Amino acid sequence: VVSPLTGRRAVVTGASSGIGAATARLLAAQGARVALVARRLDRLDTVRKEIENAGGSAVAVPLDVTAGQIDGAAVAHELGGVDLLVNAAGILTPGLAADGRIDEWERQVEVNLTGLLRVTRAFLPFLTEAASAGGPADLVNISSVAASRAEFGAGVYAATKAAVSHLSRNLRLELAPGGVRVTDVQPGMVVTDLLSGSELGTAWAEDMKTRIDPLAAEDVAEVVVFAVGRPPHVGLPEVVVMPVKQT
Ligand code: NDP
Repeated sequence: VVSPLTGRRAVVTGASSGIGAATARLLAAQGARVALVARRLDRLDTVRKEIENAGGSAVAVPLDVTAGQIDGAAVAHELGGVDLLVNAAGILTPGLAADGRIDEWERQVEVNLTGLLRVTRAFLPFLTEAASAGGPADLVNISSVAASRAEFGAGVYAATKAAVSHLSRNLRLELAPGGVRVTDVQPGMVVTDLLSGSELGTAWAEDMKTRIDPLAAEDVAEVVVFAVGRPPHVGLPEVVVMPVKQT
């Protein structure tokens, strides 16, 4: 059986760890050529080598999604086009929305929302080109269940994710006529480095691990790969994936 991902040309942000790295690995294992985007080149190189050792194809693209010009054309040139973009880069700084540091609010908005928009704009012409050439073309945004639920201690993060999910709905409207499929994936709790940067986050993650059996990054990667592997006329505009015990 030939994988529907064979020959796809994918850009994955947040590919240096967690959900982005797992998605990049799985896409490559299914035959896609993958550009790995994040800031930490050493981590990107580790993922790239894992992919290559498994017989796949990947390039590392060290990039801060919030800074500088994003050269979509250079990446597209390396991959031979781009027909799949997975926006997984994101940060969470725990804290009360009503009592936080302004620079932390701004940074979450900058990475999770504005960064996602900047990357999307850089690669959209290539997705549109792929769709108009008759092939599949996918934009996948990794949002969160926090997009539609209140999350104590992560209010600003949740607001950025609500913005991402609503942006996805609007992008779907804009891109549907051109044949670019938009999928907004909303994961519940996943074991990654997302909460590892602070004492509060670490304590929070530990607490959740004792109460629920969280997802692995690979569980979310499988959902992404399923969605983009459907025939091009089949859309999954919003997909929620959660640990069974998370309520
Ligand atoms: P990780 O912390 O493991 O991964 C986050 C990724 O984002 C890293 O690869 C990091 O790379 C990258 N990143 C952060 N800031 C930037 C930046 N300025 N420019 C480029 N890349 C950046 O966490 P997850 O895998 O959990 O997070 C991936 C996505 O999944 C996020 O959008 C998150 O909100 C979402 N999510 C996670 C859930 C969870 O429970 N873990 C639940 C629901 C959604 P680097 O530091 O090298 O730049």
